[in-house]
Amino acid sequence: MHELAVTQSLLDIVLKEAGKAGAIRVNTVTLVIGELSGLVDDSIQFYFDFMTKGTIAEGSKLHFKRVSARMKCRACGEEFITTPNEWICPKCGQWQAEVIAGKEFYVDSIEVDDADKST
Ligand SMILES: [Zn+2]
Repeated sequence: MHELAVTQSLLDIVLKEAGKAGAIRVNTVTLVIGELSGLVDDSIQFYFDFMTKGTIAEGSKLHFKRVSARMKCRACGEEFITTPNEWICPKCGQWQAEVIAGKEFYVDSIEVDDADKST
């Protein structure tokens, strides 16, 4: 159910930005989503389709840019790409890595039709 709240705030951002741009329709929303964010693309799209009904974002498509999880070892400073359950440094074997990328979730860009381009 995490995605429900996330999608609600996502839609708030999209509608606010689209309103600022004078948009009459939202076509595409590109999201950056980190591997460690725990968010599922399909669920977000599902809630988004549901919530956008009756808004200018109805029928718009979500695009997801996936960000790999990247860790930095606190012991030796090695940076490595990892999967969510592999937190061990490949260089020194220490279990002291911190996450430096992979928790992202934000709107990268929004593609809209504005009122001036109706032809
Ligand atoms: Zn290390």
